[in-house]
Amino acid sequence: MNEREIISCLNKKAGDGWPGLRMGIGDDCAVIDKDARSCWLVTMDTLVEGIHFDLRWHPPELLGRKAVAVNVSDIAAMGGMPVFVFLSLGLPGEFDRSWLEGFSDGVSMACREQNCFLAGGDTVRSREGILVTITLIGEMEKGQVVYRSGALPGDTVWVSGTLGSAAAGLEICRQRAETDKKIMESLVMAHLDPSPRVRLGRALAESRLVHAMMDLSDGLATDLSHLCARSNVGAAIRPEALPASPALHDACSMIGKRPIDLMVSGGEDYELLFTAAADRDREIALLSEKTGVQVTPVGTIVKRPGVRLVSTEASGTGEEEVDISYTGYDHFPEK
Ligand code: ADP
Ligand code: MG
Repeated sequence: MNEREIISCLNKKAGDGWPGLRMGIGDDCAVIDKDARSCWLVTMDTLVEGIHFDLRWHPPELLGRKAVAVNVSDIAAMGGMPVFVFLSLGLPGEFDRSWLEGFSDGVSMACREQNCFLAGGDTVRSREGILVTITLIGEMEKGQVVYRSGALPGDTVWVSGTLGSAAAGLEICRQRAETDKKIMESLVMAHLDPSPRVRLGRALAESRLVHAMMDLSDGLATDLSHLCARSNVGAAIRPEALPASPALHDACSMIGKRPIDLMVSGGEDYELLFTAAADRDREIALLSEKTGVQVTPVGTIVKRPGVRLVSTEASGTGEEEVDISYTGYDHFPEK
């Protein structure tokens, strides 16, 4: 069973909704009525030692920041603002006091930066390794919430920032590759200390130009497949349009990876993926200028289900298609 099948099994038995629950399982956040004008957004993400982080290279301050950031990213993906943080911490019997101090500093720093507040949690002993789960509650205006489900054929597909940096950074850490060059450091930092796109998410939601949006945590291939499935559409992506950090190509030759593979299937970019009508391209570009976050058109929403890379052949005589549906990160990949 893969991750999707596990969630679907739970979802089938979850029942038929609840008054005031605008969105349950299936989007970046649950959406719950707050009052006549606004709603709560609720999300939860877990970081597991040995799966999501390695203490050999992840400093405690940055891990604390990242635990908050990955949750804030899901709030940004709907267009909202984070408000309350609940932190559940599983620690093995013997842990370092200075590690905990650093981790707490990181959580507190991220909360201050993101303008949210640690309001509760839980502390338990784990049999092995550290577990960090955060539940984050955000809020926003009801009428502005952007779901994964609104993409329409003909829409332009956009991504913010660059793709593949965090995956390259993780691989640099794993291979203990040379990182003293500033340029490589930016990739390592993309993995250790991601920046959620709250301002851009807000601006896009307020503009009401965006039809569908989510954040990129499992790689473009998988996340765009989720967005397309929720919207009953497909997508054609132009590989040559995918935005890479200037460091990605150098890093890839060093770590033995292909940039295209990291950009398409690498996880943890925490950028925004969204679609809007093609005749709104200029307005989207203006919002990018206003918020200071780069956005790039990478393809088009189509009727035919599935996500494909469509490249023009070198000879210029035709197009080559590769199906990349759900080829990003999965915690339970099929063997
Ligand atoms: P994201 O990557 O945006 O955090 P996920 O892929 O983790 O989203 O989850 C997709 C949807 O499935 C979300 O609505 C999430 O709340 C729901 N979900 C994931 N795991 C579970 C679970 N164990 N029980 C109930 N819902 C779940
Ligand atoms: Mg998400």
